[in-house]
Amino acid sequence: MRLTIHRGTQEIGGSCVQITSGNRSILLDAGLPLGKSRSEVDLSEIDFSDVFISHPHQDHFGLIESLTPEKTVHIGETARKLISSTRIFLDKPPLSNTFSSIENRVWIELGPDFRVMPYLMDHSCVDAFGFLIEAEGKHIYYSGDFRAHGRRRQAFDWFLNDPPRDIDLLLMEGTMMGRENVAFKDEEAVEQGMLEVLRKHDDRLSFLICSGQHIDRICAAYRACIRANRVFVVDIYTAYILRIVSQRFSSLPDISRARNIKVLTKGLTAGAHYSKITDNRKYFGDFAHDIFLPETMITPDEIMAQPGRYFLKISNFSDLLKQLEQCSVIYSMWSGYLEEPKYHDIKQHRKVDFYEIHTSGHAVREDLQGFAAALKPKRLIPVHTEKADDYENFFENVFVLHDGEMLHV
Ligand SMILES: [Zn+2]
Repeated sequence: MRLTIHRGTQEIGGSCVQITSGNRSILLDAGLPLGKSRSEVDLSEIDFSDVFISHPHQDHFGLIESLTPEKTVHIGETARKLISSTRIFLDKPPLSNTFSSIENRVWIELGPDFRVMPYLMDHSCVDAFGFLIEAEGKHIYYSGDFRAHGRRRQAFDWFLNDPPRDIDLLLMEGTMMGRENVAFKDEEAVEQGMLEVLRKHDDRLSFLICSGQHIDRICAAYRACIRANRVFVVDIYTAYILRIVSQRFSSLPDISRARNIKVLTKGLTAGAHYSKITDNRKYFGDFAHDIFLPETMITPDEIMAQPGRYFLKISNFSDLLKQLEQCSVIYSMWSGYLEEPKYHDIKQHRKVDFYEIHTSGHAVREDLQGFAAALKPKRLIPVHTEKADDYENFFENVFVLHDGEMLHV
């Protein structure tokens, strides 16, 4: 078996790993870099038949749109739906890839002596997998992105209780090597933090800034609303994401079933979102109708009449801000994004009380150590990290590889 990490040995994002056995070659992830990258990856110059996408974050799947339909893209079904629908809201053409759905712990056979098994993990999005690759009697495990402090931490515990055996090579992410998970240790602490802000300012409108696809976070906000006796108001895009994900996990709030959740159908973002739905009526089906049911929809005027009753997750609230005296904003993403002017300006706004309430989507160092200890790899290769050289201080059998180098396993 041959391994080449085309990108990701010394950076976070843009992951792309190639594994070859005999005359068959596969990729693990085909991601876009998050910023300026060390390595260029041109998929048209790599000979492979299949790509396995660990999870629906751009830095892991972003390059698939350049692929022709002869290449098979293996991905979780909900992940694929999230990517497709988000493209509609972003005005991007549909993907023309050939997709194949992966399931937790179900082998994908690639040849008589070459197969891949996905392992469901806890991460800041749904359908996040690590991959076990078995070929020529050897085993490689690719961790993807994972953590042990989210709503699906059980997946991490199950993995540690019954890990894949005889691992020759472990490619393990280390986003949090050198970063601290400050203040909020897990999603429950995030929910509690949100609840305290909602209670403290119970006469004011509160806004949430977070990724619409971070379902753990959306649920933390929703649960905080119920506990604070507020109504959670989402934009049309977030409502649709909840619909897709709640079709798979029925405990998640869908706008038609759950109490205390409403959709903002007028205002800055509502018009833009709704035009995507009218342009793609067949794709969205009943959803186009459901958002306008009287028990589902809410207008800015209704919100302004009783601002302390609502917590809003909408993409743009500058029009509402103009009408308010004071409000609270809960910022719930990585602090690095605060340098972007759109967030920086909100933080500095005189009408805004700004709260940062966030926990990482990635495993802290102790959990990385537990993970590596369970897998007992013969060699551990750092990936998805800016601190590859630090691994040696915390793990055994570390082998630092560089982008583009080939390793025989
Ligand atoms: Zn990720």
